Amino acid sequence: MEDSKRKYTFKILMLGDSGVGKTCLLQRFLENRYTDNSESTVGIDFRLHTHKLSGHLVDLQLWDTAGEERFRSVGTTYYRGAHGIILVYDTTKRETFNNIDSWLLDIQRHAAEGVNIMIVGNKCDALGQRQVSQQTAAVFAAQLHVPFFEASAKSDLNVQDIFTNMSVMIYNRL
Ligand code: GDP
Ligand code: MG
Repeated sequence: MEDSKRKYTFKILMLGDSGVGKTCLLQRFLENRYTDNSESTVGIDFRLHTHKLSGHLVDLQLWDTAGEERFRSVGTTYYRGAHGIILVYDTTKRETFNNIDSWLLDIQRHAAEGVNIMIVGNKCDALGQRQVSQQTAAVFAAQLHVPFFEASAKSDLNVQDIFTNMSVMIYNRL
């Protein structure tokens, strides 16, 4: 019965190549805001978002990178204690999708075994600029047994769902 008062904290990381929209996705989720030039948004360690899940209070501790991702590795500290990783690529840049493999290697090296991973293809609002089909990415994610979403921080597509889904996935596997 005491269990109903439990409070959980889930550490969730944004990961993926520079420029794919990690910071914009967070900004859309946390502030329902989108700015086309988020360059100035550097140096945030993490932001908190509290919500309810099955009657429990859940603190999402959302971590964003501050540019270290340019080196395609973000260091052990970032990964420490992480429950979930949102691995983002840009649907308009094939290279950022191809680089998911090297991000998965970095995760394998530094994150806890069994960390919850999700793949997100951002900028799917950018019609006519697509370089990665939804089908290609869906097949890739299915092979890895990880959930996959296409999203847009700009047009607010699937952004809430990404974070809700991640939270539920972590909760269900506690
Ligand atoms: P980060 O380096 O992964 O944090 O990427 P940012 O969040 O800083 O986004 C880089 C740039 O991509 C932004 O300045 C926007 O111009 C653009 N961008 C981000 N999200 C979207 C989106 O959903 N759609 C489109 N069309 N552009 C986006
Ligand atoms: Mg950023």
